Amino acid sequence: MNKKQPAGKRKTLPGKKRTTTTRRSNRLTRDDMQALATLDRLLEEDRRIEQKYNLPFRSPRQVATTVHCCTHCQKDIALLIFGDFAKDAAGLEAYARLTADLIQRTALPAYVIAPPSNPGDLDGPALLLKVYPSQEESYFITPPEWEELIRMLSDEHCQQQ
Ligand SMILES: [Zn+2]
Repeated sequence: MNKKQPAGKRKTLPGKKRTTTTRRSNRLTRDDMQALATLDRLLEEDRRIEQKYNLPFRSPRQVATTVHCCTHCQKDIALLIFGDFAKDAAGLEAYARLTADLIQRTALPAYVIAPPSNPGDLDGPALLLKVYPSQEESYFITPPEWEELIRMLSDEHCQQQ
């Protein structure tokens, strides 16, 4: 086996005194304490968000969204929100609560989508919930079916049916 020294690891040379920069103490340094305090604040903020929006999963630090354009006139026609931690319709609804401000601001038909039901099959079906302007029943949709939905919404948008 090829043993590599990890970068940054100090080697004590023979006859040379061990340098004091080598950390041997398990006591927390000031930086450690600061990092812990920061982590504490982040976790507190997470809990606050989880409670505020009644999330059935841990608070996502970021929520990915995409805006889809009309295939005819390129105007924005739909907002898609990625509910990465959602496992069911209740989880998708939680994402809708979490992104309610954005949904209102965007004022486009908005959908929340869960990760693919089978994580190994990215082209497989994923649970989709339309949440704006009115909430509909959730259903499973595959990426090609989503593309089809965008085409349909585009036709409706530009009245090319
Ligand atoms: Zn259009």
